[in-house]
Amino acid sequence: MIIASHTAHRKRGTSVSSETSTPVEITAKPEPGKILLKAPRRGKPPRHIADMDLAGRKEFLKELGHQPFRASQLSKHYFERLVDDPQEMTDLPASSREQIVADAMPNLLTTVNTLEADGGDTLKMVHRLFDGALVESVIMRYSNRVTMCISSQAGCGMNCPFCATGQAGLTRNLSTAEIVEQVVAGARMVKKMSGLDGAEDGPEETKPLRISNIVFMGMGEALANYKSSLGAVHRLIDPSPEGMGISARNITMSTVGLVPGMYKFTQENIPVTLALSLHAPDDELRDELIPINNRWKVDEALDSAYDYYRKTGRRVSIEYALIRDINDQGWRADLLGKKLAQRGRGWVHVNPIPLNPTPGSKWTASRPGVEQNFVERLRAHGIPTTVRDTRGSDIDGACGQLAAAS
Ligand code: SF4
Repeated sequence: MIIASHTAHRKRGTSVSSETSTPVEITAKPEPGKILLKAPRRGKPPRHIADMDLAGRKEFLKELGHQPFRASQLSKHYFERLVDDPQEMTDLPASSREQIVADAMPNLLTTVNTLEADGGDTLKMVHRLFDGALVESVIMRYSNRVTMCISSQAGCGMNCPFCATGQAGLTRNLSTAEIVEQVVAGARMVKKMSGLDGAEDGPEETKPLRISNIVFMGMGEALANYKSSLGAVHRLIDPSPEGMGISARNITMSTVGLVPGMYKFTQENIPVTLALSLHAPDDELRDELIPINNRWKVDEALDSAYDYYRKTGRRVSIEYALIRDINDQGWRADLLGKKLAQRGRGWVHVNPIPLNPTPGSKWTASRPGVEQNFVERLRAHGIPTTVRDTRGSDIDGACGQLAAAS
């Protein structure tokens, strides 16, 4: 749920690497309120071992004319060692390793820019895909975890008016491997920063050395790209070396309220956290802020979120961007508190997020006193509430800011 344009903002932060790139596709700015649920059909990226599970990889290798058992070797290199250089795969025959890797692990994304903020603890990576589309992911390093925010689509079709990503329109869906590749690229970056990649000039590092948490809150509506997003979840949680070995409990699937997709995702019965970006408790305002609300209303979205909790036992997160004088009134906090409390206790947690202003936009963050009042009112209804930090706001790496301009 992040991303959006605004090159003016991009002057800030430190660019630690950059490569010139020109996006191939320029997507037309969507008309207000217009939603694109189905992504435009554009060229598909080449297939990659990260698109499939281990059994699928064996079949894939066979189809390519290679030995199926190479799938396990490649998996170990890719998911565990984070290696894609054939020369480092010494267990593959020297004569064919280049070909095997070119066939089964084609290059899917090139990191064209990396910006850092928060003293290097927040990094935004801009990646160019095979067709020139740009996507972004953000790494946030804390003392006890490393969280990565990843994109599921190039752009977004949901057209939320306060969100830079939505204003740039939807270019296309990402493949499973393109989603996973962002995490692998991030994991390599974290490894490099820790000095564990063998580079002599690696800085001393005391922070965690692995990506531990993933949020699908980058560019795009993950449930609108259901199959690829679900595939990516499996690759991320499959034990290493079959997958990345990240705990399902540390993964957050985010949605703006695609109700049928939420029910479907519940049926997958994977213990990930579901985050619903609500941003308004009443249909009148939400119809305007989140155009998909014209199709599935607040109560329907909350019912499906509650159903997710009932079936999986996982507490749901409600994301609420606090926008000055738009959705931050005390009565809206009360209405939200009431709607959540009437469905039960202990099933939900609210994260108010101060809106990250985007240049030229009328939407801006709530005043601090107003934010505090909003939080207190929710708590008075017995709803656990934590204001989320806005890491990376000075590099447009915070929610509503990802627009993939390199
Ligand atoms: S807030 Fe999320 S769903 Fe809405 S346009 Fe932005 S990225 Fe898409």
